[in-house]
Amino acid sequence: MTKLLQPQRVSLTSDDRYSCRWTTGDVICNSYVRASDFPEHLRSAHGVVGADKASLVCGWVDCFTKMRKENIMRHVNEQHLELRYPCPTCHEQFTRAHTMQNHIARKHPGN
Ligand SMILES: [Zn+2]
Ligand SMILES: [Zn+2]
Ligand SMILES: [Zn+2]
Repeated sequence: MTKLLQPQRVSLTSDDRYSCRWTTGDVICNSYVRASDFPEHLRSAHGVVGADKASLVCGWVDCFTKMRKENIMRHVNEQHLELRYPCPTCHEQFTRAHTMQNHIARKHPGN
């Protein structure tokens, strides 16, 4: 049996649609946005623009975490969209692709 060595295809959930809970004043956005389109959505719909080091308050409903703009997308993914990277071998889920890759290297060496 020949096993082809090729990169594992990791199934991301980034095609799922999420409802945007960004608030402007008292109004919650509520648009359905694909996870992969969120950076563009936050830019164009909510004015998340400026230098990467500029500090910004997350407008997600009930969040108000202050952070640098460069961290906002990761923050929204992890805290609000709950994007998960499942391990292709054991299906344990991770919030970061990087952590998932470390897990594979540790737990499933040789894959
Ligand atoms: Zn929105
Ligand atoms: Zn937030
Ligand atoms: Zn695993």
